Amino acid sequence: MKGTIGVTTDNIFPVIKKFLYSDHEIFLREIVSNAVDATQKLKTLSSVGEYKGELGELKVKVSVDKAAGTLTISDRGIGMTSEDIDKYINQIAFSGATEFLEKYKNDANAIIGHFGLGFYSAFMVAKQVDIVTKSYKDGAKAVKWSCDGTPDYTIEEIDKADRGTDIVLHIDDDNKDFLEDSKISFLLNKYCKFLPVEIVFGKKKEWKDGKQVDTDEDNVVNDVNPAWVRKPADLKDEDYDKFYRELYPMAESPLFHIHLNVDFPFHLTGILYFPKIKSNMDLQRNKIQLYCNQVFVTDSVEGIVPEFLTLLHGVIDSPDIPLNVSRSYLQADSNVKKISSHITKKVADSLEDLFKKDRKAFEEKWDNMRLFIVYGMLSEEKFYDRAAKFNLFKNTEGKYFTLDEYKEKVKDAQTDKDGNLVILYTNNENEQHSYVQAAKDKGYDVIVLDGQLDTHLVNAVEQKNEKIRFTRVDADVVERLIAKEDLDKSVLTKNQQEALTSVFQSQLPKIDKTNFIVDFENLGKDQQPVVITQAEFMRRMKEMSAVNGGMMGFYGEMPDSYSLVVNTANPLIEDILKDEESKCNAEVEPLNKERQELDDKMTAWNTAHKDAKDADIPQAEKDEKKKMQDRADELKKNVESIVSKYAADNKQVRQIIDLALLSNNMLKGEALSSFVKRSFELLKK
Ligand code: ADP
Repeated sequence: MKGTIGVTTDNIFPVIKKFLYSDHEIFLREIVSNAVDATQKLKTLSSVGEYKGELGELKVKVSVDKAAGTLTISDRGIGMTSEDIDKYINQIAFSGATEFLEKYKNDANAIIGHFGLGFYSAFMVAKQVDIVTKSYKDGAKAVKWSCDGTPDYTIEEIDKADRGTDIVLHIDDDNKDFLEDSKISFLLNKYCKFLPVEIVFGKKKEWKDGKQVDTDEDNVVNDVNPAWVRKPADLKDEDYDKFYRELYPMAESPLFHIHLNVDFPFHLTGILYFPKIKSNMDLQRNKIQLYCNQVFVTDSVEGIVPEFLTLLHGVIDSPDIPLNVSRSYLQADSNVKKISSHITKKVADSLEDLFKKDRKAFEEKWDNMRLFIVYGMLSEEKFYDRAAKFNLFKNTEGKYFTLDEYKEKVKDAQTDKDGNLVILYTNNENEQHSYVQAAKDKGYDVIVLDGQLDTHLVNAVEQKNEKIRFTRVDADVVERLIAKEDLDKSVLTKNQQEALTSVFQSQLPKIDKTNFIVDFENLGKDQQPVVITQAEFMRRMKEMSAVNGGMMGFYGEMPDSYSLVVNTANPLIEDILKDEESKCNAEVEPLNKERQELDDKMTAWNTAHKDAKDADIPQAEKDEKKKMQDRADELKKNVESIVSKYAADNKQVRQIIDLALLSNNMLKGEALSSFVKRSFELLKK
């Protein structure tokens, strides 16, 4: 008998071949899944007593006949009668096709799912497909259906001893690789590794006389009872580790696992593993595998689970995640959304659990999972709220604290005059050693924030906690890191400050895109003569812009601005000032005197004109003011140049600046060479 496949467009076959460029290989998943389904159905019928015959051996067999050019998938499931074939195979709903195909031409899953084309996906690789089948029903006649990739098929009665179905694919010339054992092995391993019915591909091999030869034993390619479908109570840690190896033979052992097992409001099972993540380099997505009733669907779960969870490894299996649909459909699916927030919750639950039950173990794993947790906190509000309870901060002593614990610890010493708790941190204990030390000497505690996401974390924590500020230890001199009460201002006169500013400003090496502002502070006579700091705000803006690009580009373009804080109490500074005064004052004092007079005159001028509108002031008076201002500016320049000349001859000044730069890791290139040279010269006596 002949017939025409009931589709509403002329011919689906060109469509199947033409539009499904990619993912040709999933035909094997489709055909093997059908065989597994047919087998499971028979088992069900048998268990409810509707099928009374022998079940026998229920393996699915995959075999390649290279000579005949065929790939055959055989099962001993329910089989089909000719009526079944007519109903399930010959009638395909296939309307509105063109538009849909255009949209999803690169997404074979979507097309197959949309049109219920599982079986027909065989035509992606076959020029002809035969179905040889015999139903389990009493007295059923075996039939052979055959179709050569036109809408026309033939169907005939045949003899078939055994119940079940053989799907015979006559592989077309473009797809000969699907006749290679290695290719089929690879695909079975990829898609069928955990199917619930044994899949057999050839015989197990053994080495004999230096060759691999077949044994009598079937080569079963799958594990029908993978760890995630078993009860957590029946599994030991070793079982979870073993399963991890099955999934990722090459990977380093995970930190711990979560066994997911949900019945309501959707079905979900799975095991998630926490990998060790030490740096951004370790961020590996596409490790979670998504299954639908043990059939592999995809290993790119982006959009299905929250982004940060894609860093986890393991398996998620849910019959409620539609198998053959497009990614955009998946993302919008309400079940998928529920599943996703459920997983987030579960992950938070089990982290909190471990934290509460075994703080020590949690801390031991912390450094390896911190990046993951911080990433989660930053990308999912809900996760942030949960994780705030167990997110730990490590201090320079290697002790771990939650934010609440830490607040308690430092609140007495580190609350500033406005009631803000100031958390001091270092992102590099080595480079910022002297600052860390200064803070500790002062009785402060310092935490280590050296992760790639920490600038963002710090911002987030500040946003959520009004009275908490994070400040890096080198953001200011230790006296000013945590503002207690208004500090005694410097005891220097205006002229002295000006002189010292010129002394240091003139001797700073020129560093590209870097500005220094000279500032004065009484840091005590035992502290360094000069300290270089960068304001927290400024540095953070730069850091954020480096990460974000675009948006914050403005700050990225700005020069780095540092403070060069001169410690007025340090004896070296006192010496320099005295020396400068003795050498320059004869020249500078008359100039400063004249400046002072001009200053007084200008103040008087301002007072006299303070209520006058600019237009009402006679031009002559304006000119006079301008003359005074120009002269004052000129005098100031002269003073600066005298002092700069002095400073240039003072090796101490250069040395002090360079040492400060050096302890900030900012002394580079030529400046570093001349520092070394000068140091040796100073050693010579
Ligand atoms: P789906 O599996 O999504 O229903 P398919 O196109 O893959 O769509 O298969 C259509 C139908 O053909 C199946 O629902 C099933 O009834 C029948 N079928 C396919 N393969 C087999 C098989 N190996 N044994 C029994 N029935 C089968």
